[in-house]
Amino acid sequence: MPGSERGRIMMKYADLVEQHAEELTLLESLDAGKPRTVTRVVDIGTSATSLRYFAGAADKIHGETLKMSTQFQGHTLREPMGVAGLIIPWNFPAIMFFCKVAPALAAGCTMVVKPAEQTPLSALYFAHFAKQAGVPDGVINVITGFGPTAGAAIASHMDVDMVSFTGSTAVGRLIMEASARSNLKPVSLELGGKSPLIIFEDADVDLAVDLSISANFFNKGEACLAASRVYLQEGIYDRFVKKLADRMESWVVGDPFDPRVNQGPQVNKEQYEKVLSYIDHGKREGANVLTGGKPCGQRGYYIEPTVFTEVKDDMIIAKEEIFGPVMCLMKFRTVEEVIAKANDTRYGLAAGVVTKDIDVANRMTRSIRAGVVWVNCYFAMDADCPFGGRKMSGFGKDASMHALDKFLAVKAVVTPVYDSPW
Ligand code: ADP
Repeated sequence: MPGSERGRIMMKYADLVEQHAEELTLLESLDAGKPRTVTRVVDIGTSATSLRYFAGAADKIHGETLKMSTQFQGHTLREPMGVAGLIIPWNFPAIMFFCKVAPALAAGCTMVVKPAEQTPLSALYFAHFAKQAGVPDGVINVITGFGPTAGAAIASHMDVDMVSFTGSTAVGRLIMEASARSNLKPVSLELGGKSPLIIFEDADVDLAVDLSISANFFNKGEACLAASRVYLQEGIYDRFVKKLADRMESWVVGDPFDPRVNQGPQVNKEQYEKVLSYIDHGKREGANVLTGGKPCGQRGYYIEPTVFTEVKDDMIIAKEEIFGPVMCLMKFRTVEEVIAKANDTRYGLAAGVVTKDIDVANRMTRSIRAGVVWVNCYFAMDADCPFGGRKMSGFGKDASMHALDKFLAVKAVVTPVYDSPW
């Protein structure tokens, strides 16, 4: 199918998603426990954006002309990789679906998509709209199932040509092992994080507090990009802590269908218990609980947004990904010291810097080993902005033209040139 036709179908697909945004919002909120109003704008509101972005790229997939030596000339073809295996997590089911499906479609791949077992509903509904939009049968195949069976079958399959995975670092390692043991399919891994948010003394304290709240409590902390290590320069620490405690008083945890609610329940019992056990670790290791620190309400997997102060670099809560509403506050003095602290992690997904000093901002953005560094903002994402980490946060990008590249194989075609004058 020509790229322009793929692009046309993808645009129609995006229209269908938007026309059914209300039902999709209900499904996604029910499935993942996300506040309905946020889901409408963020999760469902942005999923069609990625379809449109890559629809525009579908007919602009070009190769290069190679002059080579005097006897040969060549060109490159960028061909679809073939069958793409797309394995999706439960924290942003809709966004992750299109983040992977849209570039794969634009590239001309067929795909087997496995949504997370906790949250399969939106992916199934998206498959239904694919049919209506005119995506040919067999191009998008949604298979529900568990990780060690359905997911592992994709990762080890001899006829799957590449895998794009988002999930935990432990499972990312299994995916790579499965690829190595089967057909050496290329893999792209978007894994865990323990990202730093670094707040300098000159920062606007209101902005810093806002950013720390959204960077930790957005989506109940179930975000690989969460900035769960908040480093505060000494001179702003007390003002920040006071403002943060005040602000958290108006933060509402509860039923995601209540419009006043900021934070819904954790996705399931397993995650709920895991987060509570990290909170226990924090208390036992001597960190101080500024807010929260326990379950919330009588029923459901609700956890109070928890802020720990007096956190030390070697505490478990400062090192491991918690994937829940838990913020750790730590102090620093100098730029050098905080660069070392920020990079002292196995992960390298994201970072945030809050300062008015352009020189400090420039120094930080160049010194932190991460896939994205946000200055005076956090979670600012777009279909055009590459997304993916370094170190044990994985490799390969979602979003942006880099994401399209991973679904394309480069082939060189070479022919002899006889009697060339040069
Ligand atoms: P979490 O640990 O945060 O629940 P996972 O990394 O386990 O996240 O899950 C992310 C996705 O990976 C889900 O779709 C899950 O079913 C899948 N998955 C889990 N285990 C495996 C595996 N062994 N092989 C392939 N996919 C898996």
